Amino acid sequence: MDVEIIELSDDNARFVLTGVNPAIANGLRKSMLSEVPTMAIDYINIYDNTSVLFDEQIGLRMGLIPIITDLDSYVLSEDCDCNDEGCTKCQLTLTLSAEGPVMVYSGDIQSSDPNVSVADEKVPIVELKERQKLVLEAVAKLGTGRKHVKYQAGVACGYKNVPVITFQDTCDACGKCVDECPKEILRIDGDKVTVTDPLKCILCRLCVDACDIKAISLEEDDSSFIFTAESDGSYPAKELIVQSADTIIEKAKLLNEILESIE
Ligand SMILES: [Zn+2]
Repeated sequence: MDVEIIELSDDNARFVLTGVNPAIANGLRKSMLSEVPTMAIDYINIYDNTSVLFDEQIGLRMGLIPIITDLDSYVLSEDCDCNDEGCTKCQLTLTLSAEGPVMVYSGDIQSSDPNVSVADEKVPIVELKERQKLVLEAVAKLGTGRKHVKYQAGVACGYKNVPVITFQDTCDACGKCVDECPKEILRIDGDKVTVTDPLKCILCRLCVDACDIKAISLEEDDSSFIFTAESDGSYPAKELIVQSADTIIEKAKLLNEILESIE
């Protein structure tokens, strides 16, 4: 297995994974979407809400605000020593108090843990007019995307096979495929056509259809995948990918233990 990083920033990653089968690639994608534990607001106590939004609407908005996740300090409540009673190892308390006229943003939420706060301070919650108030306490917990979309750290995570574009010797470099390619990755180089960046190919096959003498073949490499991963801010993109791989490893270990116990 080999990994080649194409792009890597705090929120986005693009990389090529080679030497694996489609099941592993899809497992990694699904793990990013639904298996990596992520912190999100689970319930709120509203002490005062005279805004134009119902309590339930405020609750929905609060639940979808990404929160920086620290797996060294927090555990899933079902795995906690407190047996899901709620303690400082499995819960984070946050408070919000605002009085109009003001636009209330996620950045106004105060966290009881100085190391864990909202990932994006500019998520709008509600606009308060003169004499309107919003006072609440929220409790955030770890969860997985499998349980609820608010616990989904990976957004727009997907992959495609690495394209393999080959030109036969019969190619007469007429240039029709070059004109058709929407990603403009084909170029005439003397008496033949070359591919400038195969990773940009979207496998649309317009080049194949444009060639009158069928000199182009376009195939997908079944063991190489171009991944795109985006984090909602709960994790840096790199950590999200590492955590998703770790989750698969943990599940494989668990499966192994179960199988050994049967023998
Ligand atoms: Zn606990």
